Amino acid sequence: MSTKILVVDDEEDIVSLIQQLFRHKIQEGAYQFRFASGGRQALEMLQTEADFDVLLVDINMPDMDGLTLLGYLPNLLPNGRAVMVSAYGDMNNVRAAMNRGAFDFVFKPINMGDLELTIQKTALHVSQLRQSVHLQQIAELKTRLFDNITHEFRTPLTLILSPVERLMSEQDESQRTYRDLLSIERNARHLLRLINQLLDLAKLETGHLEVYAKPGNLREFFEQLVQAFIPLADQQGILLTYHTDVMGTWLFDAEKVGQIMYNLIANAIKFTARANHQEGYIVVQLEADAGIRLTVSDSGVGIPASNLPYIFDRFYQVDPSTKRLQSGTGIGLSLVKELAELMGGNVSVQSTIGTATTPSGSLFSVTLPMECLSADEEPVDDTLALWDWFPASPIKQEDSPLDDTVAADAPLVVVVEDNDELRSFLSHELAHQYRVMTAATGDLGWQLIQAELPDIVISDVMMPGLDGYELTHYIKTTPATDHIAVILLTAKAASDSRLAGLRQGADDYLTKPFQFEELSLRLRNLITRQQRLRTLYQQQLVKHELPQPLETVQTGWLKTLYTALETHLDDSSLNVERLAGIMMMSSKTLLRKVHSLTQLSTNELIRQYRLRKAADLLRAGHSVSETAYMVGFETPSYFGQCFKEVYQVTPKEFASSVTV
Ligand code: ADP
Repeated sequence: MSTKILVVDDEEDIVSLIQQLFRHKIQEGAYQFRFASGGRQALEMLQTEADFDVLLVDINMPDMDGLTLLGYLPNLLPNGRAVMVSAYGDMNNVRAAMNRGAFDFVFKPINMGDLELTIQKTALHVSQLRQSVHLQQIAELKTRLFDNITHEFRTPLTLILSPVERLMSEQDESQRTYRDLLSIERNARHLLRLINQLLDLAKLETGHLEVYAKPGNLREFFEQLVQAFIPLADQQGILLTYHTDVMGTWLFDAEKVGQIMYNLIANAIKFTARANHQEGYIVVQLEADAGIRLTVSDSGVGIPASNLPYIFDRFYQVDPSTKRLQSGTGIGLSLVKELAELMGGNVSVQSTIGTATTPSGSLFSVTLPMECLSADEEPVDDTLALWDWFPASPIKQEDSPLDDTVAADAPLVVVVEDNDELRSFLSHELAHQYRVMTAATGDLGWQLIQAELPDIVISDVMMPGLDGYELTHYIKTTPATDHIAVILLTAKAASDSRLAGLRQGADDYLTKPFQFEELSLRLRNLITRQQRLRTLYQQQLVKHELPQPLETVQTGWLKTLYTALETHLDDSSLNVERLAGIMMMSSKTLLRKVHSLTQLSTNELIRQYRLRKAADLLRAGHSVSETAYMVGFETPSYFGQCFKEVYQVTPKEFASSVTV
């Protein structure tokens, strides 16, 4: 980058002096000099060429002096800087120039070494200045973009919410449609709230967020907000109470005060809900205290002392892992702090992590300077934009019972998903075609899968405790469950997480948001594939003209099972219990596994396997009674009877038909 310098001086020899002194720099292209012989000429040049970095300006010039020229610079060259040149000791003028915004000065006779350093220093300052102006412009552009995008999101969301609310008011609350509408409403509001928070954050960053205080009934405003959280708190087993002695009409910015309250209470609920198995409590208190003081205390998990200094930082989360129990973005508390400070207030926190004998919990306290206008109370103003950030009522936790309209032998699907709403949605939708069971965590899911041996598992990837990858790994490496198909659901679209899932043996993968149709199709494909395999395995056992089961099943659990049967082929005492022992599982698990792979019971499988072997032995020329003993029948007559049931011919007839 070349530094462009305008030298303004009426001394004629300055041009050659500078060109001589800086000839190397000029040759390298580091410096470009232009010359003006007075203030007026400089002004003309600046009007046509606005890209000078540094001006070297003589103070005493006949037509327009340097101080006058300096007065024009903020407009003509806002991002350039002037270095003044004057007679030695001309302190009055130098001081005047510095007060008018000159960056530095040098005295005549010019010390060329000093001049060079001064130019370097000024050029560096100018480049830093430009950089920060550039960053500022980018930040403003970002805010504008944010503003526009947010607006673009808000409008359609509002257009979703308004008709949904109307439709809800027309519906019977017990209807399925009402529940669906409630879910749309909740989620649209959630999006709207996130968008508003992002917008506020961006505005705070560029100082565009302003406080609009209006008179209102503070006590009742808080009361309404706390009330709106009660259903959610109730659902989580938390006692939420509100106390205040504040009365009268106050001047406050409802949007911002509400935002602060919302975040503190929502956090308190979030971090108290699963803190322990006892009933939790949250106390919201509003007091008058040279303004107001708002406190929210909870009996939740608490925050480790080492994390406390950071919780008000943007995007900070005490537990940022994908396995954490609570969702969130790390924006909430930074907004609380910045909004409180914007209104001239502040936030503080105390928190303890409990021990076996002491309880844990957090206390957030916000003080806000605020004016009480009168002791009279106005009715609360409906126009306060409460709507945007009021929490919607929580969904009722209703995991679908097995739908009695589907057949008892319909495929069994286990849904493992920690989001209550999504789990409930999936189980309701799937229940039209499948038997469905659900689990809210990976650990519960794994217990359920082992107990029920479903046909398919649909699992979320990010879950507290056992996550989707680990669950898949367990399913695919445990003999009793390794035949179960797994579909993973994840919010991560990145291909590496896709690979991670497939590497654990997942059969399919869907990225959220997904369409239920697609999930349904993939489920159907997997189930059809399983059914085809089942038929194939069964036919290999029944049809003597097909290759032997043991020859066709190359790997996996079925091969182990067939090998065991082969080893005990002539052992007439082999029964279900012994086979289960050999396969190291309970008879019940063995039965379910055998059934889901071949649609046969364990007993049927043992018999079919033997008869299928018998067909081969007869074909190879063994006699009927020999064959009967070789495949573990105690008497040739019982063998004959079973053989005929399957192949519709006696062993003898069979032997003569295949040996001629
Ligand atoms: P988040 O979206 O993660 O809730 P916040 O900025 O609201 O982000 O909070 C930052 C972090 O502070 C949270 O991730 C949590 O670890 C901690 N925190 C906030 N409020 C509480 C609380 N009431 N109890 C325990 N921890 C809390």
